[in-house]
Amino acid sequence: MHKDIATPARTKAILDKYGFSFKKSLGQNFLIDTNILRRIVDHADLTEESGAIEIGPGIGALTEQLARRSKKVLAFEIDQRLLPILEETLSPYPNTAIINKDVLKADVSAAIEKEFNGIQDIMVVANLPYYVTTPIIMKLLEDKLPIRGIVCMLQKEVADRISARPGTKDYGSLSIAIQYYTEAETAMIVPKTVFVPQPNVDSAVIKLTKRKEPAVAVKSEPFFFQVTKSSFAQRRKTLLNNLTSQLPEGKQKKEQILSALELAEIEPGRRGETLSIEEFGRLSDALLPYFS
Ligand code: SAM
Repeated sequence: MHKDIATPARTKAILDKYGFSFKKSLGQNFLIDTNILRRIVDHADLTEESGAIEIGPGIGALTEQLARRSKKVLAFEIDQRLLPILEETLSPYPNTAIINKDVLKADVSAAIEKEFNGIQDIMVVANLPYYVTTPIIMKLLEDKLPIRGIVCMLQKEVADRISARPGTKDYGSLSIAIQYYTEAETAMIVPKTVFVPQPNVDSAVIKLTKRKEPAVAVKSEPFFFQVTKSSFAQRRKTLLNNLTSQLPEGKQKKEQILSALELAEIEPGRRGETLSIEEFGRLSDALLPYFS
């Protein structure tokens, strides 16, 4: 077994050797605790037959652990300066492939097809760059990739919103957007001390397990997401107020919105945060005829 990358001493030696300076704008906070890394990988339930997709390998701390516990790792890294470093640190792991691209602009589906030939079980495992956690997770889900799920480190505050249940202060359109596609749970809370440099915010690892079918069947997905976003536009406002002020020509269509609420058996005076995903599904289907 090779020496772990993720120790404070080895990380420092690698960074010094290459004269690497962290770019805050790229969310570069590297993990220096092997124990935490192993626990993250545990949550992904990988086997020797699994494929792992990593976003932002950094100097390879997590990549290495994934390479040891899966068949192949495919990692997207935006920062070109890390490529020669990764070439050295990952040289003991021929089952790793690095793509030097912004994951938000990459064709992940094509990369999976090319790199994961014959691999059935695919998980995304990542310590995400915090400035783009939500766009990355949404892209991975909306692209409808053939993945089993996502285990990722992110800001605790975002983790709380993603896994929030109806009726809680953290529940909102992000909770619904993600729980529509996945079952979401916070797997662990992570202290700042396991990163270099230490981030300003607390961190958590979430596990998202993709559902076979979305949490609710709706006639139009884009409209469902438009309705949920509109319903949370101003959290203190009632559902009726938010819908009339946010949906196109909502004020003129107040009567139709009221009829749709009645059809969906939802009180107009309720607040968005009290509605379950199923109720949002019923509501958006009832509203759709008036907005298409
Ligand atoms: N995986 C490493 C670790 O745990 O130590 C590094 C994680 S660090 C939080 C985030 C990594 O994502 C950095 O290496 C950064 O350069 C990279 N990154 C930032 N934005 C990216 C993007 N849009 N696409 C791909 N990688 C990105």
